[in-house]
Amino acid sequence: MSLAHGRHTLAIPGPSVMPDRVLNAMHRAAPNIYAGELIELTRGLIPDLRAVARTRHAATIYIGNGHAVWEAALANVLSRGDRVLVPATGQFGHGWATMARGLGAEVEVIDFGKRAPVDPARLEERLAADRGHAIRAVLAVQTDTSTSVRSDIPAIRAALDRAGHPALLMADCIASLGCDEFRMDDWGVDVTVAASQKGLMTPPGLGFVWFNPKADAARERADCVTPYWDWRPRANPEEYWQYFGGTAPTHHLYGLREALTMLLREEGLEAAWARHAKLARAVWAAFEAWGQGGPAELNVVDPAHRSHAVTSVRIGAPHGTALRDWLTAKAGVTLGIGLGMAPPGDPAWHGFFRVGHMGHVNAHMIMGTLGAIEAGMRALGLPYGRGGLEAAAAVIATA
Ligand SMILES: *Cc1c(COP(=O)(O)O)cnc(C)c1O
Repeated sequence: MSLAHGRHTLAIPGPSVMPDRVLNAMHRAAPNIYAGELIELTRGLIPDLRAVARTRHAATIYIGNGHAVWEAALANVLSRGDRVLVPATGQFGHGWATMARGLGAEVEVIDFGKRAPVDPARLEERLAADRGHAIRAVLAVQTDTSTSVRSDIPAIRAALDRAGHPALLMADCIASLGCDEFRMDDWGVDVTVAASQKGLMTPPGLGFVWFNPKADAARERADCVTPYWDWRPRANPEEYWQYFGGTAPTHHLYGLREALTMLLREEGLEAAWARHAKLARAVWAAFEAWGQGGPAELNVVDPAHRSHAVTSVRIGAPHGTALRDWLTAKAGVTLGIGLGMAPPGDPAWHGFFRVGHMGHVNAHMIMGTLGAIEAGMRALGLPYGRGGLEAAAAVIATA
């Protein structure tokens, strides 16, 4: 018997759940792209995009996913042969490094493994040893979505400052923007990248790059930049046909407008950060209780280094895959696969899963997902400690 008929919950770490209001905003005929409403709407997105990254500097919109803005950001500041330093805490740090290598950069990775954040002291040591300042940029991922490790961006900034190093600090906030606290200007971040489909609750297809004047000065000598990825015309709609240099991504813009209204003008960004923190703590409390009597274990041991947007769980093969399959078939909840924790094809790959809790997520969705996970562990005969749901409810009860 399946109990999955009803509204399905997609609890993967992107694309995230889209609000009905975002979907409805997109459900319309194609607008005129040359004049009228869409032009005004796009102009109005720019201040809100600045606000969501907490910057007063340039905000640009690209038609593309996270990988697209990884490339866009790098292309605007690098020349072939430039050195970049990537402190990696999971698959996405390595992915950004691979892209920099593909653009012709000399890439140095400091691998912090799959369960720990960037260690600012090690970063500082490496930067201090670079006396000739060959390193042009540090590529930091705030939340690595594969491991759910969250690194301390201000501490990374402080490491650069203590080493007296002029490299650009570039932050991948694709999984964390709108979920975890992030303050581009106050934290001294030079370039930020994000995408539409995670905390920003909009379908995949838009990417964003924010850059400050220091990063724009690096653009002056960058020889990797190509016309489409160039951020300068994109930051200047008078020069560039209304931000896009071609047909605007019309329906995505309507969706994003609604999502940013909900996030910034109705809930408020700081309230959204607090909601994500609280719901994340409820998820952790359940797994901590279950882990007392069974194999489920949070991937990140120290709560200070856990993402508020996604939680990676280790449960041993084949239970991760079995649990995901059971939840989809029987309970109407889809969890995320374990990404980058074991090589695909290796039986150990089936020992992990992730719970996405980013964006349009509330207490009852979290309690529902956790309840379904407990039912799944029970159905599969997996042992687990008692009291997981009570522990989650206790966190939510103090909201
Ligand atoms: C999702 C994600 C990416 C990749 O984004 P795509 O839209 O899938 O290309 C990169 N970095 C982080 C941290 C992510 O969460």
